[in-house]
Amino acid sequence: MRVADAYGWLMERAGPADPFDLHVVASILALAWAEALAGRGSLPFCAGLDGVALEGLALRLFPGAWPGIAVLAGSPASLGPANLGDDELAVRDLLWMYAGGGTDLQRDLAAMIARRCSRPNHLWQDLGLRDRGELSALMRRHFGALADRNRQDMKWKKFLFRMICRAEGFTLCTAPVCTDCDDFDACFGAEDGEAMLAHIRSGRPLPVY
Ligand code: SF4
Repeated sequence: MRVADAYGWLMERAGPADPFDLHVVASILALAWAEALAGRGSLPFCAGLDGVALEGLALRLFPGAWPGIAVLAGSPASLGPANLGDDELAVRDLLWMYAGGGTDLQRDLAAMIARRCSRPNHLWQDLGLRDRGELSALMRRHFGALADRNRQDMKWKKFLFRMICRAEGFTLCTAPVCTDCDDFDACFGAEDGEAMLAHIRSGRPLPVY
């Protein structure tokens, strides 16, 4: 199978789960898969899950794909727990705190989103999604109370780290109000760009980051 076909390959092996949730997780895994094959870490590392969590997620959502995923992922037991940096742990905890329902899927999404936040593009791109609207829909669906707090529609990555800074009692802001701030475009500007899976499907190599 070509890495460009990973998303479709996963979706063909999906179980009876919600179609949007399947799409989101297949998108994240397909991009993580491409990164792993490009030598940027193991599949679990790129996805943000430890091996056991990846196996559990795959068996729940894409049961027919696990044997193929396992070849790339390695032995779950041998991978051990994920090694988290402070920022990643903070994003994971923030999302989990706001997870509406506390489901296994939300726990895994919190971990995957936190890992993908370490990539340098817009968060929707680094999750392999088609556009920013899909990320907003994901946040409303699974982290609704947190999405409600992003009333001003700040860029998602900026918003998550701003929430963390506030909780820690300090701020990255250089002005008292956003409308007076020189960084306004960095926080609220358009989140346009090419979808990463479309980029991969076009046959071009992964961007360097
Ligand atoms: S625009 Fe300025 S004040 Fe508003 S969140 Fe961004 S950095 Fe903070």
